[in-house]
Amino acid sequence: MNGQFSNAPRDPQRLTRAVLAPDIARVREAYNALRSSLKLRCQQPIEELLGTDAPFSYIDNGAQILAVAHCDGAAQIPVGWYAEGDCPGYGPIVHSPWLDDRLGVFTILDLLPALGVKVDVLLTDGEERAQSTAAQFVLPPGKQYNWAVEFDRRGEDAVCYHYDNMEDFAEPYFEIGRGTFSDISVLNAGCQAINIGVGYHEEHTVGCYCILEEYFEQVARFLVMYRDKSTVRVPAKPAPVRQGYWPSGPAANGYCKPNPDDVWEVGTSRGEDARDDTFPYDYYEEAIRQGICPQCDELLTPVSGDVKHCRVCDIRYKLSGWKNKWSRDAKGPMVQLKDMRR
Ligand SMILES: [Zn+2]
Ligand SMILES: [Zn+2]
Repeated sequence: MNGQFSNAPRDPQRLTRAVLAPDIARVREAYNALRSSLKLRCQQPIEELLGTDAPFSYIDNGAQILAVAHCDGAAQIPVGWYAEGDCPGYGPIVHSPWLDDRLGVFTILDLLPALGVKVDVLLTDGEERAQSTAAQFVLPPGKQYNWAVEFDRRGEDAVCYHYDNMEDFAEPYFEIGRGTFSDISVLNAGCQAINIGVGYHEEHTVGCYCILEEYFEQVARFLVMYRDKSTVRVPAKPAPVRQGYWPSGPAANGYCKPNPDDVWEVGTSRGEDARDDTFPYDYYEEAIRQGICPQCDELLTPVSGDVKHCRVCDIRYKLSGWKNKWSRDAKGPMVQLKDMRR
């Protein structure tokens, strides 16, 4: 358990697992006392967490930190599937298609309070379609947050998206990676924010699991950052809402798993008919150009020609000058599922 799960070399100035050992032990102990709550969170109907009418659920605990998690899931299977296990070489794991992001829900509703961490809570919907209801959150009058946090990311780094100052803020505690979208990407809470990896693997599939020792270490890193800097404010100017996109059409209300042989063509042209101002063209194009999946941040693998593949989402992307919008949906953006099957 000495950082064996991390691919990236740790900067020696950063926290080592040995330095973190007391905090990791605290997190492990708190988790073990609460583990039935994680199962409950993974199995809880979304209406129970969010209600039926409001776009999100907001809990004001009088805290200076806002913690965010999404309650929707990527897998179109009934809630209920949950298993604990032991994986040789990795230790205890939890397996549920709903870990993403019910593990985040569990972390901010159950685990952090047990660890003496005080946060306000924002629970959202629509994140997996990159239409997070976090965008609709409005800071209550008189409320000010120092910073915001989310636990909704694979592996063991953390990302700050457009929150540049937050990178400097968190850099002593976390490996800083690059990300493209989560709730905090569209959050306007007057403060900057960070999304912390919580040891997800195979997220966005029914095989999603979490290596718990990775999770414990990441929460321990958060605890150190919280102790050092919970009272330090990292302000942010209001930003324009920038949502991502999942294909709508027939599966508009849920996760639409594209055929792995299909290619998503993201147009570089700005044809009048195709223009959809809600779609972040530049963002998609730039992500694909840089070889990053705009849906999930995974590095894309070149397939053939200029087609790139995300192994996590199993989506193939291609930049193109394609001009027409995807029909059937008046708001259809300039991303097309093009059948490439032979
Ligand atoms: Zn997620
Ligand atoms: Zn992806």
